[in-house]
Amino acid sequence: LITSEQLKYVLSYTASAVDELKDELNALDRAIGDGDHGHNMSRGFQLVLKNIDNIKYQSLSEVFVFVGTTLMSSIGGAAGALYGSLFIQTGKSLPSDDKELTLDIFVGAFEQGVGAIKELGHSDVNQKTMLDVIVPVLDLLRTDQKINLSMISDYAKSQSQLTVNMKAEKGRASFLGDRSIGHLDPGARSSQVIISSICKALTLV
Ligand SMILES: [Mg+2]
Repeated sequence: LITSEQLKYVLSYTASAVDELKDELNALDRAIGDGDHGHNMSRGFQLVLKNIDNIKYQSLSEVFVFVGTTLMSSIGGAAGALYGSLFIQTGKSLPSDDKELTLDIFVGAFEQGVGAIKELGHSDVNQKTMLDVIVPVLDLLRTDQKINLSMISDYAKSQSQLTVNMKAEKGRASFLGDRSIGHLDPGARSSQVIISSICKALTLV
């Protein structure tokens, strides 16, 4: 299992990746939204980074709830609520003692987190949202086939690209109708980078 130091490394690695992505996310959001997704995401993860030393690492469950609460209060808007709920609900569904943690149990908790996004956003896959990355990754984790971190990362990337040809049916982008087609969804891109960064950092710790 992951130690407190390793976990801090994973979170700071992810926060840096999100910060580096800031301009790209803003540009993607300018095309089909209001152009602030990069700033908002970066602000959220920088606050996670700033408070990282205050994390008293008792369990992964508490860390997920901490990250979710921090993101929810700092990202703002729909993205803050959606990312916040994902981490908070996943955290609440994890066992309070890491000794009970298995991959199956983690995947079950992650599924609860994904359910919270669907419920909050009244959304599902194929609507050009973050769910078009997160749900396929969850499905991949649920399969019995042998998977590794780089497979998960590559899969998230290829799934995010599929949102380019989707028509937005949720959020601000949905007002554009067919004109939303041809643009990568900013939420799918940020979800993919978060997933890919966590996978990469886990191979480095
Ligand atoms: Mg926006």
